[in-house]
Amino acid sequence: MAVAGPMRRTFTYRVGDGSSLLEPGQRLLVPFGRTRKVGYYLGSAEPPPRIEIKPIIRPLDPQSYFSLELFRLCLWIADYYFANPADCLAAALPPSLKKNRISTMVWGTGDISHLPLQFQAKAKPGKRIPTDTLKSLLADRALWRQLQDRGVVVEEWHDNAATLKRRSVGYRLLDGASLSVVFGDEPADQLRFDSVCTRKELRQSGWSDHYIRRALAASILEPVLETPRRTVLDFVKPKADVVNIALTTEQRVALDSLTQALDSGFGVSLLHGITGSGKTLVYCHLANEVLQRGYTVLVLTPEISLTGATLAYFRGFFGDQVTVIHSAMTEKERLQSWQGVRRGDYRIAIGPRSALFAPLPNLGLVIVDEEHDSSYKQDDPSPRFHGRDSAIMRAKLNNIPVLLGSASPSVESYYHARTGRYKLLTLTQRPGVSKLPQVRVVDMRTEGAKGDLPFVSLPLKNETDKRLVQGEQIIFYLNRRGYAPQIKCNDCGHVPLCPHCKVHLTFHKTHRRLLCHYCEYMRSQYDSCEKCSSSRFLYPGTGTQKVEEAIGRLFPKALTVRLDSDSASGRHSIYHILADFAHRKQNLLLGTQMVTKGLDLPGVTLVGVLSADQGMDLPDFRASEKTFARLLQVAGRSGRADQPGEVLIQTYSPDNPIIDDAARQDYVSFYEREIETRKDASYPPFVRLVNIILSAANESKLESAARDFAERLRANVTTAKIQASLLGPAPCPMYHLRKRYRRHLMLKTNQTVKLVQLLSAWEAREPRFKLPATIKIVIDVDPDDMM
Ligand code: ADP
Ligand code: ZN
Ligand code: ZN
Repeated sequence: MAVAGPMRRTFTYRVGDGSSLLEPGQRLLVPFGRTRKVGYYLGSAEPPPRIEIKPIIRPLDPQSYFSLELFRLCLWIADYYFANPADCLAAALPPSLKKNRISTMVWGTGDISHLPLQFQAKAKPGKRIPTDTLKSLLADRALWRQLQDRGVVVEEWHDNAATLKRRSVGYRLLDGASLSVVFGDEPADQLRFDSVCTRKELRQSGWSDHYIRRALAASILEPVLETPRRTVLDFVKPKADVVNIALTTEQRVALDSLTQALDSGFGVSLLHGITGSGKTLVYCHLANEVLQRGYTVLVLTPEISLTGATLAYFRGFFGDQVTVIHSAMTEKERLQSWQGVRRGDYRIAIGPRSALFAPLPNLGLVIVDEEHDSSYKQDDPSPRFHGRDSAIMRAKLNNIPVLLGSASPSVESYYHARTGRYKLLTLTQRPGVSKLPQVRVVDMRTEGAKGDLPFVSLPLKNETDKRLVQGEQIIFYLNRRGYAPQIKCNDCGHVPLCPHCKVHLTFHKTHRRLLCHYCEYMRSQYDSCEKCSSSRFLYPGTGTQKVEEAIGRLFPKALTVRLDSDSASGRHSIYHILADFAHRKQNLLLGTQMVTKGLDLPGVTLVGVLSADQGMDLPDFRASEKTFARLLQVAGRSGRADQPGEVLIQTYSPDNPIIDDAARQDYVSFYEREIETRKDASYPPFVRLVNIILSAANESKLESAARDFAERLRANVTTAKIQASLLGPAPCPMYHLRKRYRRHLMLKTNQTVKLVQLLSAWEAREPRFKLPATIKIVIDVDPDDMM
């Protein structure tokens, strides 16, 4: 039995004679300390000695929601990523099914003389206790316990609705012949009807509610349900005529090879195709082959690219067989989608990381689009799993093929392709007349000062003017939101810092807000310096808001729209913004990373990268890879249709080979340099990393705990004869975050599984590794975010 919690622990309960009826992953309500919890059935176990074993209260659902395949996947994730199995199983369920506590507090029948006077009149047994009453009662823990023991307040447990009620719009008669069997006395032919009838019509023709109920129970009558609404899909118009596009020779060659692989069980293929080479069309044709063979298809995409080509394509190709599983959907929508997938209403499920767990029966193929994207890795909370790698595992468990696709594959995946573990397929050209954009690198060391603005060079200004006059569209890309990354007092030079993270606070124009981009700390109306009260400020550096303000002046003809997480904060606003831009309501789109992914905007003929240098020098071994991928992706947004595109990359380091490679769209050149670096410094794919982060409010306690932990870890690793090198403890790049100091230990190993097993056994022996209670520990296997 797995129960949610911070530790990788399982618990044993008694199930009486019903144990053989329980299914792996089935949800059970169990007593847990003074309360009850929802747990997941993992399997039968020998009762541990000398411990009283409590019986379960009852199963929550008649059966498990997990196919054996998904159950195994969740346990693999738990084992590999050092996570609690309950957290992994919960991650696989739609939000409305994974709540751990599904109870309300109600008044009981106990003696109310202990209840404070003011509540006594209201304490009607069975009625829900209002929240504010609960709050004030809970304030006195001792009293609360007494009230619980005496049955004055009672926790009432209820099963949350696993089956969402869809409104029935009418009824259909399934089997008229057996009507008389059910009703006997009733003249059957009076009850016959042909088409769908509403309840009202049924009543008029002599059906009582009682008969309707009996006929439903006997499966003679079937409810006709309303079609579920799918709002995310409403924003994505199915792409027209995609079924009729003829494949290019390159696409055909790739498709044939992939189709052949469909019959050989598990195997990984990597489709490396330049931006705009039509990878999506290949995905669709391959998925079609799989559907023809009677199987279903899972398609993973990065977090926000659902706005783009992928979904529109699949909808155009497969229509209503496609559904989406996405966090921008409401709980209800997600449950509907999940249920539809389980029932087999949809045969293709598309979505980001969390869609990995789509309960597709009879899965035949997994596609991971933009496989290099870092949004596939869940950093927080646990399970800190990698969506791509877990997808490969899901395919392995099903013995089916996986297709990874990208214009800038992760160095790991490309390495595996080069060394023969993955099959490599390439698309080197854009189909039709569409050409790769002309890329020009602008040396800001000389050009920067010449323009009117420090962040729009003269060449970029001139090109933009030209495109505006020609009625074309432009994208400006700057990966920094807000107005300026800091605000500085003009008189005393003071720069306000986040009190929790000790980093510069970003200045946002709206409400003159100071915002920490790491912990969300916020402070409004910063009108005077906190040190000297001066109201004269400088705003060093540039964010999207500052650019937006300035381009209004620089380009009076431009209709600008900004796209970043500040401007796109509503659930669907990103879809709206992009849809409007695609419909040419504006001609200049300015934004962060959000503009780089998966957009297919034929009107765009110019992309301006305002600062290519950003993020390049982060202390992260993937910094180069990420910068390269971003430049490549954003450059790929230009000139997708018949109009030739242009890209201007502004940089202060024009000699950086990464920029040169990106400008030439030369992935292989980038890869060959990068793989050497990885080899020399011993980084993935040559080793795997496990990052262990310790944090605490008190830095000196943290320091000594971290050193002590490192020593014990080193000893354990040596004893277990695991080959791993241990670096640290060292301060994390973000050494202070959310009021806590942070140290990390980095393990490099090729024996990750053994290492995690060791940690697991160690933690079972010594709960929380015997760390002081004030020290928090996070273990991140194959980390992406190194901060
Ligand atoms: P990628 O995902 O590889 O960057 P897309 O799949 O978005 O590329 O395709 C880019 C554009 O090329 C799309 O508008 C798509 O419809 C078009 N396209 C793809 N394949 C063909 C083809 N064989 N013939 C004509 N146009 C194509
Ligand atoms: Zn000051
Ligand atoms: Zn902060």
